[in-house]
Amino acid sequence: MKYIASISGGQDSTAMTVRLLELGHPVDYIVFCDTGNEFPQMYDYLKRLDKWLLKTYGIGITFLHAPKTLKDLCFSPFTKGKLKGQVRGMPYSSSMSFCTRDLKKNVSERFYKGLKDDVTQYIGYVYREKNRKHQSDKEYIINIFPLIDWQWNEDTVQSYLKSKTLYNHLYDHYTRTGCMFCPKQSLDSWYALFCNFPDLWNEAKRWEHDAIKQNAHIKHFRSDYSLLDLELRFTQQKKKQDKQVTFDLKWNDEQVSCMCG
Ligand code: SF4
Repeated sequence: MKYIASISGGQDSTAMTVRLLELGHPVDYIVFCDTGNEFPQMYDYLKRLDKWLLKTYGIGITFLHAPKTLKDLCFSPFTKGKLKGQVRGMPYSSSMSFCTRDLKKNVSERFYKGLKDDVTQYIGYVYREKNRKHQSDKEYIINIFPLIDWQWNEDTVQSYLKSKTLYNHLYDHYTRTGCMFCPKQSLDSWYALFCNFPDLWNEAKRWEHDAIKQNAHIKHFRSDYSLLDLELRFTQQKKKQDKQVTFDLKWNDEQVSCMCG
C-alpha cells in the first residue's frame, strides 16, 4: 500500500498533509497536479512549502503535469461527438468538467497506477464538507478524509498553518483557492481578481474575447455575466467602496465551495 497526500496548495490540503506528517502517519508521496493556471503567488508558495517539507520531514512535493494546460485545453477543438472540430472554450461551471478530469483526476490516477500498488489517498475536505466524502471509482484507490475525522474546519486549519509559519497570503484575498480563472469561483472571487490582480483580470478577459472570436462552444466563464459585464459592475462597486459607501451587490451569488481543490 502506498499512502498519498493530494495537495492543491490550498490551506486545507496543506494543513492536512503537515499534520499527518507531524503525527507520524505514513505518507509516501505528496502529489500536486499543475493545471498551468495557478496564481504566480501559488507557485511561489508551493516552492517554499516543498523546501520546508523536505527540510522538516524529508519528503518533498511530487509535481505532476498534464500534457496540456488549462488554456491549451480551452482552446483546443473537440475530437469526437457532434461538436467535433469546434473549440471547447471554458470548462462547464457545474458538474465535473474536462479541466478536473484531464488536468487532475486522470493525471493523478495515471501516477498512482504507475506505482503498481494499492493506494490510500488522503483528501483535504474540512469537517463542514463531510457530505462530500466519496469513494474512488478505481478499485485500487481508497480515499480517506483526515480533516473530517479530526473535525477540523477552516479556522483550525488557518491557525495551524500560521503556527507553522506556512500561511498562504492568497488567503488575504480569497476564502478558497484554485485555478486563477476557475469558472466555478464565486462572484466574490472574481471581484478579488479584478481588485487585486488587474493584469490577470485582463488576461481572463482576453480568454473570453478569443473564445468569442473562435466561436468556441462555451464563450464565457459564467453563464449569467460576461467578464465585460462584471467589469462595469465591479468598477461601480469599487468606487463606492473607495468612498466607504455600503453597496449591496444584489447578485444572489451562490456560495460556491468547490474549486476542485
Ligand atoms: S480549480 Fe476550477 S478550473 Fe481548475 S481544474 Fe478545478 S474546476 Fe477546473
